Amino acid sequence: MLDFDTALALLLDGVTPAAAERVALLQAAGRVLAEPVMAQRPLPEFDYSAMDGYALRIVDVPGPGVVLPVRSVSTAGSAPQELEPGTATRIFTGGPVPKGADTIVLQEDVTREDDLVRFHERPAPGSHVRQRGEDLAAGQTALTAGIRLNPFQLGLAASLDYPELVVTKQPSVAVVCTGDELRAPGSAGPPGSIPESNGVAIAAMVQAAGGWPHLCVRTSDEAAATRRALENALELAEVVVTCGGVSVGDRDIVKSTLESLGVTTVFHKVAIKPGKPLYFGRLGRRYVLGLPGNPASAQVTFALFGLPLLRALQGMRDLLPRRARARLTRPIRQKPGRRTFCRGTLEGGQVTPLDNQASGTTTAMAWANAVIVVSEHAALCEAGSEVEVIPFAELYKW
Ligand code: AMP
Ligand code: MG
Repeated sequence: MLDFDTALALLLDGVTPAAAERVALLQAAGRVLAEPVMAQRPLPEFDYSAMDGYALRIVDVPGPGVVLPVRSVSTAGSAPQELEPGTATRIFTGGPVPKGADTIVLQEDVTREDDLVRFHERPAPGSHVRQRGEDLAAGQTALTAGIRLNPFQLGLAASLDYPELVVTKQPSVAVVCTGDELRAPGSAGPPGSIPESNGVAIAAMVQAAGGWPHLCVRTSDEAAATRRALENALELAEVVVTCGGVSVGDRDIVKSTLESLGVTTVFHKVAIKPGKPLYFGRLGRRYVLGLPGNPASAQVTFALFGLPLLRALQGMRDLLPRRARARLTRPIRQKPGRRTFCRGTLEGGQVTPLDNQASGTTTAMAWANAVIVVSEHAALCEAGSEVEVIPFAELYKW
């Protein structure tokens, strides 16, 4: 059976980013930058005052007690006249520093007497002047391609005069849940039926990862219905995520149906827990991720494999959720052979595995905020030992 790293490498092999498109700044929030953002001009573009006060030449105030006439004003958005030597300019925050001036003195540090201003002490040369190009020189790279744009990066792009940005297209993702037993949450169903709960979780993860989810209808395990649902999904979206029906039972026909539709199997079954039956296949530029139906298996495997796939399709530089280290509060015992992803709660550098680690439970993922990565070679992780964790916050990261 494939190990985790080999399977992930196979999945990501040759996945190239989708085409790019130009969108308005706010629409670029959470999208992946396809071209770097450069400073077209210096930032800031001109020297301006960081405070309310007086602009002057430092040579005109060699010591305390100097008095200068105030001859002009510079407000934010104005174009002040040149400073005459031996005078001061009244200046406000954001006001351009007049040509000739090199220093700003705070209004709190002077006495104003009609058209005169008295300086109590010698100012520090250059104080409170925000210099042209202080943040960025013209031609410097402000944002590199491959980042998922956060609100602050949009602010930087705006300050560099970009009304739009070039971002990669959002991959469309069809989610198909299979199973005779599934019914819509809140709807009536025959005895033995259960609410379908994976679809919404997967679709929401797709959304958080920057994809465009289509939550498809549920399908029964019947062959013709399964075929129709998968055929539709492959037509609809670039990525098809199926849920259920990939194990080895008689009703697990997802793999064979996909193959009959022309999908090439890249792998089936990975030495991980939960999620061993995981399937991955390709049809041209279309990708099919077949998740096992058990809720914890589906959600964990989508986070481990689906998320990097969506990141790669968006041209993101960092494909894998960043891992951290934490101290285990309770031991974890397991049968070696599969890499285990235990659901746990992480707080203050300590991580506690949740009691119920069964792959059929929906509580563990909902109450957890991290998965603990346990090596396939380990039989025991002792309490107090350091383990690797993937904080859930990393799954939703900008
Ligand atoms: P399967 O992988 O189809 O064999 O399903 C494994 C277990 O997960 C079974 O108990 C199913 O009832 C359950 N299951 C499958 N799909 C879903 C789903 N979409 N929502 C909730 N439970 C599911
Ligand atoms: Mg099933």
